[in-house]
Amino acid sequence: MNYWNPHLETLTREELNRTELTYFKNILSYAKGHSILYQEKLKDIEPNDITTFDDIKQIPLTDKEELRKYQEMEPFPYGGTLGMPLENVTTFRQTSGTTGKPVYVPESYESWQWRIEVWCHILYMAGFRPHHRVFLPFGYNVYVAFWEAHYASEKVGCEVVPGGALDTKGRIHKIIEIKANALMNTPTYGLHIAEEARNMGIDPADLKIERMLCAGEPMPTATRKRLEELYHCHVFDHIGGTEPCAWAGMCEAKDGMHVIEPFFLVEILDRETLQREVDEGETGVAVVTPLGRRSFPLIRFNTKDLVIKGKDICSCGRTSKKIREVVGRTDDLRKIRGVLFSPKTVEELVRQDFREVAEYEIVVERRGLMDVISLRAEVEPHLPIDSIEQTSVRLQEMLKIKTNLSFHVIIEPPGSLPRRTLKAKRFKDLREGAK
Ligand SMILES: [Zn+2]
Repeated sequence: MNYWNPHLETLTREELNRTELTYFKNILSYAKGHSILYQEKLKDIEPNDITTFDDIKQIPLTDKEELRKYQEMEPFPYGGTLGMPLENVTTFRQTSGTTGKPVYVPESYESWQWRIEVWCHILYMAGFRPHHRVFLPFGYNVYVAFWEAHYASEKVGCEVVPGGALDTKGRIHKIIEIKANALMNTPTYGLHIAEEARNMGIDPADLKIERMLCAGEPMPTATRKRLEELYHCHVFDHIGGTEPCAWAGMCEAKDGMHVIEPFFLVEILDRETLQREVDEGETGVAVVTPLGRRSFPLIRFNTKDLVIKGKDICSCGRTSKKIREVVGRTDDLRKIRGVLFSPKTVEELVRQDFREVAEYEIVVERRGLMDVISLRAEVEPHLPIDSIEQTSVRLQEMLKIKTNLSFHVIIEPPGSLPRRTLKAKRFKDLREGAK
């Protein structure tokens, strides 16, 4: 069977719209009646007046800052974002805090099961099946995605192996020892496992991984293909966040991602106005309403994820809306010498055309009145000196073509840049006032 839920995954557009509108009104009423944040924020909105998708556009967006602000109230630590009595909360999760104070996320047992069901769709679309032994190479701590992957793997019938409390070498040995054949990791860590395996004299393809699901960072196609080549496996992407849950995933067609409908209402809005729904092929900001989760209701959450809207048709037969590509985060877009810059452009270039670059870091500084942008590139070991020089020159030329910015390229010795297991930090903006 190709679908986790054959009924929901093949509903017509009309049926999906009707269902999502009904669910939206229900969660809107619920949020207004049960969360202090939405009692105050929606005091002028009457849920019964919402009858079309255009009406929904009149409802204000919710952002992370508001969640942080309302979490300063009682009851600790969820405050006014809580959608049910504290006694009903059975699971604590939190955001990674890379953009500021973490947001604490309460899940009741019912809300947690809702998240797991969403994740079953993501895993099943990525081809995870009962014959897979899934290795999760992380200590999960308070971060949600690996817990979701863990429980959803069980629910779709896979066998799940928690890989915390080991270093990367230990994890590689464990994968070999137990014959794990599926992995879930950040793209950065997937590359790192492969690099470490090669240092140990093991070809990553010999780990015999069949499926890999990536999480945690926007993954350019070039990085996904690089992982597929290294491991000789199928690599899939998905997008989501701790607050709204994962809301879209890649199917076996590997051509963009399906929104998990009707679990979410996803709007892709024009970046400037945050009003107009963009057309196919246009870039916009994803605004997400989880439609069945009550312990932490979110109405029109601004994810700050920039995505390109895709075609609403797919060779896999699913009828849900698609996004063509994740461009990055609005937080990561910077003006440098008047040019709009996205770090993802550099990742795409390095992974596709500079195989000899093992790791890199982008640094922006202000020197005098000038913004200076540098790329610190760490090359593979044993590269001859003239090849290193060629790499440096070629990087400078290609970066100029792709970004319209002149980079200082600094070649670093092997092993000198930090390797991270969760979210990579390859972009540092050191200018005063920069986020
Ligand atoms: Zn599909």
